[in-house]
Amino acid sequence: MSSNAENDKKSIPDIIIDKTRNCSYQRLRFFGKGGFAKCYEIQHTGTKEVFAGKIVPKSMMTKSSHKEKMAQEISIHRSLSHNHVVGFHSFFEDVSNIYIVLELCKRRSMMELHKRRKAITEPETRFFMHQILEGVRYLHNNRIIHRDLKLGNLFLNDELHVKIGDFGLAARIEFEGERKQTVCGTPNYIAPEILTRKGHSLEVDIWSLGCIMYTLLAGKPPFETSSLKDTYKRIKECEYRIPSSLRKPAVEMIVMQLQEDPLKRPSVDKLLQHQFFTSGIMPAALPLSCLTTAPRTDQLEKLALQRRPLHQINSNDDGRCDEKFSVPNGLTESQSNRQHLLSLRQQLVKLLCSKRKNRLQVLTDELSDPAAQPLVWISKWVDYSDKYGFGYQLCDESVGVMFNDTSKIVMLANGVNVHFITREGQEIYLTMDDYPPELVKKMKLLSYFRRYMSDYLMKTGASAVVRESDGLSRLPHLHQWFRSTLAVIMYLTNGALQINFQDHTKIILCPLMQAVTYIDVEKNFRTFRFSTIEKYGCDEKLFNNLEYALEKLNSVLGMPAVTPMMSCS
Ligand code: ADP
Repeated sequence: MSSNAENDKKSIPDIIIDKTRNCSYQRLRFFGKGGFAKCYEIQHTGTKEVFAGKIVPKSMMTKSSHKEKMAQEISIHRSLSHNHVVGFHSFFEDVSNIYIVLELCKRRSMMELHKRRKAITEPETRFFMHQILEGVRYLHNNRIIHRDLKLGNLFLNDELHVKIGDFGLAARIEFEGERKQTVCGTPNYIAPEILTRKGHSLEVDIWSLGCIMYTLLAGKPPFETSSLKDTYKRIKECEYRIPSSLRKPAVEMIVMQLQEDPLKRPSVDKLLQHQFFTSGIMPAALPLSCLTTAPRTDQLEKLALQRRPLHQINSNDDGRCDEKFSVPNGLTESQSNRQHLLSLRQQLVKLLCSKRKNRLQVLTDELSDPAAQPLVWISKWVDYSDKYGFGYQLCDESVGVMFNDTSKIVMLANGVNVHFITREGQEIYLTMDDYPPELVKKMKLLSYFRRYMSDYLMKTGASAVVRESDGLSRLPHLHQWFRSTLAVIMYLTNGALQINFQDHTKIILCPLMQAVTYIDVEKNFRTFRFSTIEKYGCDEKLFNNLEYALEKLNSVLGMPAVTPMMSCS
């Protein structure tokens, strides 16, 4: 165990005691690490309520500016209470740490959503932006400038409701017309007037909101370059390009927010009234599958709060054809799969080269990144390919079959919705009791596979709950699989490559999160970013697994079996 982990064990107790309130919390799983804080799931030992415990070691608070910042963060956050702001429960300290007890946002942040999805659909953007604006309206009404609104500070709960968090750079406006002169820290979507030190106020948040909206719809931030210097130059000159795929109301709203002159930017109230919110579908709820996969476009309308006026639905005059049917980045399933595989291969080559030197480091929990853990993996499989095909169950208890003719079928965990994917990759949406006659045999086989897996392989008793948002749900499905003497290799349409080894250990590689998950025999999941392994190395077992993955990737991609050593030189 590294000294890092030992220190943690010593300084963060398993039972955390709040002396002032005379209560305690049990420390549960590690949730993530920030600049100063470590975050754990913690449970109140009395009420059993679960929270996020943000824990900051006092040893890190060396400078007085750190202490001031922390005091400011707590002072502001504790005064807030709103549906779209992370709930502040309490704070306290012991000899070693400061503890902040917050509402737990189980679905991480919009940053992970962005990494997995890149550009999201317009209806989803509407759903999220509306909530974010409600939260910022509350802050601004209370004269709080957040000053670091970014995807990583927009947390998500199980309903995919947005909660604004991290008030580390926030400031309170003390008097009417006050212009703040400095920020102690570096905001991510920094406004030009902060860079030029002209004095700033609430409008900096509107700028950040423009950057957020752009990033959600375009799939990348507006001012991104390869160097910070160039990015800052572009920000000061307000130089950005809007992709032509965006529709007019969205473009207009982004342009309003990304104006160099802060006084020209609209207030939150104005933005909430923008045509963007009324010119298209506003989903009442989104399914959790949206964290990995674009929702079903055919169903958005049914679940909409508002409908677009009929005359607009089929017309082109609002800039684009139909918002509902935009294929993400215009690639076919197999093209986009090949891209994922190629980028994964490249990441593995880089990783395996870099870490020959320090190959035997044992990675500790604190070096893991639970936020990068896959949301979807294959929990069971049945190979019946000598007759029909390959059946599998995903971790959410949905099931799928890849038939020998390479068509596929997927049944959601609710046991009702069924998606058929033709050999050409076209998706057709069915239900258990509504499907065309030519699919009778395949539906029978699906049921057969499902029953087999639940009778022989599952824990059974999956409580099938039908949610209204299931109608929007789409899942990644199995794109390819094969077996070797050592392992089963399965490859999902979201880019994840899963290898189940004969010794019952597994790895899941994700090119989007750039991370590997190692699952041991006891089914413990630990996810490490490739960059962490590059820096610290990893144990021999994981290293060998990664080498094996590269070997298999090379053969899937039809590339010569170069060893990393050769390709490095
Ligand atoms: P820092 O201020 O030191 O950068 P962060 O606020 O980024 O710390 O928190 C550290 C980690 O904890 C991040 O991975 C973040 O995603 C997670 N986190 C913070 N607050 C919550 C919360 N309320 N619910 C769930 N996770 C949280």
